[in-house]
Order: sequence, then C-alpha cells, then structure tokens
Amino acid sequence: MEFHETANHCIECSVTQCQHHCQQENFCALNQIKVGTHEKNPSMEQCTDCLSYVKK
Ligand code: SF4
Repeated sequence: MEFHETANHCIECSVTQCQHHCQQENFCALNQIKVGTHEKNPSMEQCTDCLSYVKK
C-alpha cells in the first residue's frame, strides 16, 4: 500500500479507496482536485464527483 506523508488540510476526504487519500488522516494528499458532476442538473451533494479520484 502506498502512503502519502502530507495531508492537504484544505481538502477533507473520506474516500480511503483512492490512491491520493492520505490514509493516516481523512484528507487528500493532492495540492488541488477537480470536482465535477455526472448529472445534467445537479440538485444534491450525491450528484457531484471528485474527478481526481484514482482507484488504488
Ligand atoms: S483525489 Fe478526490 S477522492 Fe481521491 S483522496 Fe483526493 S479528494 Fe479524495
């Protein structure tokens, strides 16, 4: 398993299955992420996606 040392405390994230997740803390290790949507008219938080996600 890959460990990222530096948590970016500006990007809280609980997706531990992502390669960019910090593991030790619930934060992303990237400097920035891209957020998008898979919906035509997003109406709730479930409609949005982290497009920087990478499967472990
Ligand atoms: S890239 Fe997205 S899904 Fe992956 S750890 Fe960062 S914020 Fe979470």
